[in-house]
Amino acid sequence: MSGNRTFTMIKPDAVADGYIGAILSQINDRGFKIVALKYTKLSTEKAGEFYAVHSARPFYRELVDFMSSGPIVAAILEKENAVEDFRKLIGATNPAEAAPGTIRAKFAKNIGENAVHGSDSDDNAAIESSFHFSGTEIFN
Ligand code: UDP
Ligand code: MG
Repeated sequence: MSGNRTFTMIKPDAVADGYIGAILSQINDRGFKIVALKYTKLSTEKAGEFYAVHSARPFYRELVDFMSSGPIVAAILEKENAVEDFRKLIGATNPAEAAPGTIRAKFAKNIGENAVHGSDSDDNAAIESSFHFSGTEIFN
């Protein structure tokens, strides 16, 4: 059985720090199957669109600038209970509050530059996946 899907990005801080391999390895070890993968860079426009839900928040401009500041890795991950299990694997938004061993506890710098994105619902996983990938870029 294939399970369901979540969407992730390795953010510019973690890419710049050389953590792509370590983070993908931790994702694999936890039983997620990578069904789509892309090394790319978001324009400020695209980053603004992706995070539009946060446009009224005080950190929005900083977030958009950060997310368009360098390359990212975008991926779609498949596993039973993917969304919830991946949120557990990445840990709390603020790495100071992230459980030991989680990706953010290990690799994040602070609440803004926090190494990875993870979808917060099945609906958003589908929306975010199609924001970054077309059907021909996804493999089962
Ligand atoms: N963020 C920030 N300051 C905050 C809260 C969030 O810079 O006080 C950034 C951070 O990069 C976070 C992203 O905005 O990952 C989206 O925020 P959200 O609350 O959705 O956290 P997440 O779902 O990523 O844990
Ligand atoms: Mg979120």
